[in-house]
Amino acid sequence: MDIHGRLNKNVIPRRKFLGTISSALALFAIQSAGISCKPRKKMILSFYLDDTNPSIVSSEAFRQFTDYCSSNGIKGESSFIPGYGGKSILSDPDPNETDYIEFVKQAWTKGIDTHMEIMTHNTLFNFDTGTGNEGGIHEGLWLHEPSVATSEYSDYFTRIIDEAGKGGIKYTGLTWPGCGCEACTKRYSDLKQNGPLKINQAVFDALLTLADEGKFRNRVLPIFYEASETEYGIHQRAARGKCGVYDLMPNAMDHFGIWENSVERVNPDYYITEDGKSGIIIKHLKNNAPYCMWYMHWQGLNPEKGVGWEAFKTVTRRINKYLSDKVIWMRPGDIVTSYHDAGGWNFTNDL
Ligand SMILES: [Zn+2]
Ligand SMILES: [Zn+2]
Repeated sequence: MDIHGRLNKNVIPRRKFLGTISSALALFAIQSAGISCKPRKKMILSFYLDDTNPSIVSSEAFRQFTDYCSSNGIKGESSFIPGYGGKSILSDPDPNETDYIEFVKQAWTKGIDTHMEIMTHNTLFNFDTGTGNEGGIHEGLWLHEPSVATSEYSDYFTRIIDEAGKGGIKYTGLTWPGCGCEACTKRYSDLKQNGPLKINQAVFDALLTLADEGKFRNRVLPIFYEASETEYGIHQRAARGKCGVYDLMPNAMDHFGIWENSVERVNPDYYITEDGKSGIIIKHLKNNAPYCMWYMHWQGLNPEKGVGWEAFKTVTRRINKYLSDKVIWMRPGDIVTSYHDAGGWNFTNDL
């Protein structure tokens, strides 16, 4: 082949070129011709799991969950709420709590990130007495209060991080704990008078500084706030150099029993049907979405009493059967770090 022949071959449009020969031959020919050939693009799969605690079921259930994730290559996130039971689990833990702390510490190595869903998922924690406040504002609402200063958030987050650190647990981000109590509902509706509800910017500023100081496992943090199947996306809330804070919105809901542990709220077909042809994962794949991410609740998902556990395993089997070459599981912390470093979703072209 003369020099002109090689040049001509190089300028054949890739699509047409691929249409003329088998794909294995085409790949070899493209590589020989020096045309860059990117690996197949995959859609990211992930989830977050709220309200995880060792009091409604034994800590063994959490170990079972993380082992299952690990053996199936599943990656996601699960909350660690040290003061969920009213006092810190790190102070004077019983044997079940001691096991739980150990299993949470191991979770990251099994593919599961760990978020603060704040200290109690209830009233603010009093670190001086070691118990949750009797009354007063709930943590989720407190994150929205416009008058709270960055330093107040920073102090509170630092104490939670230090508390988890006593058990060797590192946090990767923050999840907003939802609450439908009367006081929260009323105040949220008051705040909505001034526009769409939003977390105080000081929360993100405080988190960014703590990430910058190395207080979290990663330098880029995901925040879980709102979710939408259609109006989803990733939103930068604070950034400085290599550090960032991102609201990563789930684009799929909880159909694994929710916090009510209700059989009416279990539906594996919502994610992927038995024939692998429909469901929200397939829909996002067809729409070329960069990710499909859902949320779950420990009450419904846990392997001991959760009505959603079998459905979760069913969904996993279907994903493995139909989508193993089309999807890639990622921890939320790795998703936002990759996004931050690449300055967009273009990193998914190389997955
Ligand atoms: Zn929650
Ligand atoms: Zn409340």
